[in-house]
Amino acid sequence: MKGDFRVPFCRTCRDRVWPPFERCPTCLSKTIFKRISRMGILLEFSTSFISGHAQDFGIVDLEGVHLLGSVQGNNIFLGCTVVMYDCGVDENIRPFYKFRTGT
Ligand SMILES: [Zn+2]
Repeated sequence: MKGDFRVPFCRTCRDRVWPPFERCPTCLSKTIFKRISRMGILLEFSTSFISGHAQDFGIVDLEGVHLLGSVQGNNIFLGCTVVMYDCGVDENIRPFYKFRTGT
């Protein structure tokens, strides 16, 4: 599923289930995965130097789903539009998300 970002939705009440879960916490129906927009709004960001070079990280709002991911681009500011260009699971089985500015 690398690069394919999907969010679970309840089959019955059609609520989005986030964080992801097999069953809807409201009505306990099963969930199905759907694609949502990859375009989001940058809510917060900061720069990390842990890896030896500057890397921006931020929290992105994708239709109400908040994701922490890396952010690339020349003109990063709060409220700017970012696009998810990659996602997946790293070697520690942790999900990662990569965003860049612009469309
Ligand atoms: Zn439900």
